[in-house]
Amino acid sequence: MGYRLSTDAMNQVLAELGKQYAIYAPKCYPGGNTFSEVDCIRYGEVHTVEEIETERKSDYSFKELLLPFSETLFFFTENTIQEASVIEKDMVIFLRSCDLHAVRRLDEIYLRNGLPDFYYQRLREKVQFVLIGCPAAFDSCFCVDMGTNRSDNYDAAFELRGGQVYMAARHPQWEALLRQYGEPVEGFAPSYVTETPTRVSIPADLSPAVAKSTVWDEYDKRCIGCGRCNYACPTCTCFTMQDIYYTDNAKAGERRRVAASCMVDGFTDVAGGGSYRKKHGERMRFKVLHKVYDFKQRNGYQMCVGCGRCDDVCPEYISFSAILNKLEEAMQEVRGDGQQ
Ligand code: SF4
Ligand code: SF4
Repeated sequence: MGYRLSTDAMNQVLAELGKQYAIYAPKCYPGGNTFSEVDCIRYGEVHTVEEIETERKSDYSFKELLLPFSETLFFFTENTIQEASVIEKDMVIFLRSCDLHAVRRLDEIYLRNGLPDFYYQRLREKVQFVLIGCPAAFDSCFCVDMGTNRSDNYDAAFELRGGQVYMAARHPQWEALLRQYGEPVEGFAPSYVTETPTRVSIPADLSPAVAKSTVWDEYDKRCIGCGRCNYACPTCTCFTMQDIYYTDNAKAGERRRVAASCMVDGFTDVAGGGSYRKKHGERMRFKVLHKVYDFKQRNGYQMCVGCGRCDDVCPEYISFSAILNKLEEAMQEVRGDGQQ
């Protein structure tokens, strides 16, 4: 069943939910971007519908709510270890279809790839997802080609139309709230895009042989190895560990899990002074093939959800979607197609 609500009524719904949940959504931080006087759209706690940014794509995804960029796992002294506590409230996260598909990728890595990760699982179990309808694609989106433009595994769906809020519920708690504060409307379903300005085509016969192509070489120079593409990506899951020792007692401290990037120096350093993938082009090759080859080989579906954030944040204007579209040419090169 769909419901229509005034923004005031929706704010009452959010206030009601706020007693049990911390509510997170894309939010505008004026002037908060890396570049001066440019807004940053990222996830933050919201209390009113007016705070939810629906017109612009978020520069960073919901990912940091489930996988904080820096997360204290436990505190230690010489003889004791104490687990870090988890946030008390449950969470409601507003997100678009591509990001809801990204949740499945995070679950694959942190819940089903061996033993479930304790820290991820305890946050994941607290979350309800509200799908934000997408009436139109942004310039760099390529969700349709990645098959992530549509989702129906939400707890509730949300869309602003003509200054009013339209919602659908699948979770009984949302159904009860919407029945109380909204009026029923027949046939509401969240919008989803069916075409995107950016298109990608990944060769059906993509194979590890493409690693030998010269297509990667240009990124030795163009990419500066800053890692922004990884940090903005909703499906990048790598982390490293840091032990922080307190200055007033060098035998006590805390262990933190910190987001890592396969594009930055040090990611492939190993004991004995070894380091793999020193060239930035090699790192790009690894990242691209992980996103659209290795993960699929293991799990049967692509890792990349086509959100386009990596294109949006790259300071060197390197386009991931353009690289995907070079893979056919790269395969032809390694197959020797067209050679005499
Ligand atoms: S690789 Fe780029 S387009 Fe794909 S999910 Fe990550 S940020 Fe989005
Ligand atoms: S954001 Fe751009 S420059 Fe930075 S590591 Fe990624 S591809 Fe390279």
